[in-house]
Amino acid sequence: MSDGDCLFCRIVAGTIPSRRAYEDELVIAFHDVAPRAPTHVLIVPRHHIASALELGDADGPLLGRMFAAAAEVARSQGIAEQGYRLVSNVGRWGGQTVDHVHLHLLGGRPFEWPPG
Ligand code: AMP
Repeated sequence: MSDGDCLFCRIVAGTIPSRRAYEDELVIAFHDVAPRAPTHVLIVPRHHIASALELGDADGPLLGRMFAAAAEVARSQGIAEQGYRLVSNVGRWGGQTVDHVHLHLLGGRPFEWPPG
């Protein structure tokens, strides 16, 4: 399923350009246009899911693939050994601005805890 008004669905379809870091039949990964770290890549499912709030048991294989894709991108970007952060913002207070579920892969510098 694809949502014609969704920014990330358009990026998946290729009608909005992106700098891709990884792709397979379930997910794509591309560099964030406003990076918050030296490496900042977004991992998104090809089909539209609004947020992590909508995920259930049936999405287990997709979630496994998203984390595996993140690990592969981390290795290919040279940030795996030092460590990295995976974040999924959910809803307005969670900081979500694009309503298509995604993982932020952030690396290349140390991160603080808790986040702001
Ligand atoms: P979130 O705020 O957690 O929903 O994350 C959305 C992310 O999408 C932000 O980090 C934005 O910088 C990023 N973003 C918005 N538009 C684009 C775009 N056209 N290409 C790549 N990243 C984008």
